[in-house]
Amino acid sequence: MKRTGIFFAYFQGERLKDFPGALEGLMDKRNVSYYDAVYGTRDGLFYLEPVAENLLLKVHSKNMIESVMRTGDYESALYSAGGTVQAAEEVRRGNIDNAFVFTSFGDHHAGRDFYHGMCYFNGAALAIAMLKEKKIKRFAIIDTDSHHGDGTRDIFRRDAGVLHVCFCDQDYSDQNSKIDVQIPNPTTDEACLSKMKQALIPRVEGFRPEYIFWEYGYDATKGEYGDKGISRDSHIKLAELIKTVADEVSKGRLIAILCGGSASDVATYTIPRIISILAELNNR
Ligand SMILES: [Zn+2]
Ligand SMILES: [Zn+2]
Repeated sequence: MKRTGIFFAYFQGERLKDFPGALEGLMDKRNVSYYDAVYGTRDGLFYLEPVAENLLLKVHSKNMIESVMRTGDYESALYSAGGTVQAAEEVRRGNIDNAFVFTSFGDHHAGRDFYHGMCYFNGAALAIAMLKEKKIKRFAIIDTDSHHGDGTRDIFRRDAGVLHVCFCDQDYSDQNSKIDVQIPNPTTDEACLSKMKQALIPRVEGFRPEYIFWEYGYDATKGEYGDKGISRDSHIKLAELIKTVADEVSKGRLIAILCGGSASDVATYTIPRIISILAELNNR
């Protein structure tokens, strides 16, 4: 079994209204650690920490950070991205093998000097900045949100150490380890998964990242605001695919980050199942 960390910040909005209750049956597993931004007191619980402000400046401009400060969401944004940074650090220290990070805000529309689409700080980019200081060099970011990860692309555009495979609306790019793969609208589960598999496996195997980050957006699910007609079960199959790749290529080092999506029933259905896959629990 893998040791899996769950990182739980506290949120705005409705989509996670069933959590942490919906993690019942997972949190007490021996190989699951739970990091909580508020209640880090019970046995076996750990505190989730906000991003250190000096790390922010390694990824974002001073202007951009000050602009987030003026939104009133600054502290919440620090905790939201903090889960990803802490997850990466816990994997690096060997305390966990992989992680699922609940977020209050997304991160893939957060670039060096801009943010939009309910994203503030780029948690994956901050985690990579932190890991680079520890001499780790190769990273992959797999983005299966319905939309283009323009913030992440902006930050890593000229960084040969980061493979960015983004599934979105267009084949914007296929060069310098920055790849966009068009998922047509509408598509089917079978077509979508087979396209992702074909695009991912050779590239990730060829690149050999030491860490894999997965932007788990479910907004391409039928009925969502980025609807491409796929079912909620397609995300479970995708989690299996990405977990298998991470085990083969990156010694299992995989950090799943909650990205777009609005329906609470999809979150409640998919997230516990994804965590079960990460932790190799067969009870779901
Ligand atoms: Zn999206
Ligand atoms: Zn894209």
